[in-house]
Amino acid sequence: MKMDYNVSEDGYYGEFGGAYIPEILHANVEKLKAACRTYLDDEAFKKEFYGLLRDYVGRPSPLYYARRLSEKYGAKVYLKREDLNHTGAHKINNTIGQILLARRMGKTRIIAETGAGQHGVASATVCALMNMPCVVYMGETDIRRQRLNVQKMEMLGAEVRSVTSGNKTLKDATNEAIRDWCCHPEDTHYIIGSTVGPHPYPDMVARFQSVISEEIGRQLQEKEGRSYPDYLIACVGGGSNAAGTFYHYLNDERVKLVEAEAAGLGIDTDRSAATIHLGRKGIIHGARTLVMQTPDGQITEPYSISAGLDYPGIGPVHANLAARGRAEVFAVTDTQAVDAAFELTSLEGIIPALESAHALAVLGLKKFRPDEVVVITVSGRGDKDMETYIQLFQTRKTDKR
Ligand SMILES: *Cc1c(COP(=O)(O)O)cnc(C)c1O
Repeated sequence: MKMDYNVSEDGYYGEFGGAYIPEILHANVEKLKAACRTYLDDEAFKKEFYGLLRDYVGRPSPLYYARRLSEKYGAKVYLKREDLNHTGAHKINNTIGQILLARRMGKTRIIAETGAGQHGVASATVCALMNMPCVVYMGETDIRRQRLNVQKMEMLGAEVRSVTSGNKTLKDATNEAIRDWCCHPEDTHYIIGSTVGPHPYPDMVARFQSVISEEIGRQLQEKEGRSYPDYLIACVGGGSNAAGTFYHYLNDERVKLVEAEAAGLGIDTDRSAATIHLGRKGIIHGARTLVMQTPDGQITEPYSISAGLDYPGIGPVHANLAARGRAEVFAVTDTQAVDAAFELTSLEGIIPALESAHALAVLGLKKFRPDEVVVITVSGRGDKDMETYIQLFQTRKTDKR
């Protein structure tokens, strides 16, 4: 039998996925499932969704042939430019979809979690657009690291609630958002920012992000005369930009899928966020997946230079793609990612987000043939990471002297 890498009827990707939730959220999750069934293929819904993606987000995002990168790595390298979207990353595709669903479900209040602040900004943005109150949970540590995004969310009218439990980062913010949702199951929709959480979230988020692979198909047909690449490469935090990049090619074995997760200081150190390499089966935030944990099952604190990849779980779709060998997964270190970011900047004049730089680093880790078509998703722009880049830039200049 041919493998199907999409979600099953009951929310599983192989042995990963499902909905492990407290009883109080059961009705909410059922309602969301019903809304997905009713609206995701509904013509009026799609018209509104694609209309906003075009006129508000600025889609389709370009598929850019990177000439100098191609020369350097000996392949036809294309960049899918999600960095050019409104608010600076792919996250907005998903928040637009979810706010339209929330309105149709009669919800009047939005909550979200955020790490680097990109998903928080994308959520606050669509709430301003739709005139809905928005509460964003964010770890105290991340609030300190990402001032600019906090200020943007506040200017957009959202309330940013500081989370002081645990490591005070993304995992803790997610716990707090789930707690809020349990207290307000009636009026509140929780906009999860990645392909994580209980079913139907991973599948719903992947479908909203699948506009990325839909466009890649059309754009490659135009540029290469065939609608599929040889390689698709994306970074994975929770896995939403990767899921969107792969979506229409999941079951197309002509296309090789490559993922870059964050190795931090290295997978042989205790400072890493490489969940697929280091995780074991467990349950986190409502889904059965790979989780970074101690031998006795305590979730361990992840580390990566990029806040968007700093998560101890992974979307169940990706746990399954890795377990079945459908995707090849690289653990990319902070240093490799930063090198790739500086290289893209100097060769192509594009400053990528630190997260996206992990995907770009794969070019240096794999061998390609000159006629092979390689598409890399640049999930976001580097504006939010400028402080980190400037610091590194200064030390590199000093080192060279
Ligand atoms: C949030 C974020 C990521 C990681 O999230 P995924 O769900 O894995 O895509 C990657 N890149 C950027 C720019 C982000 O903001």
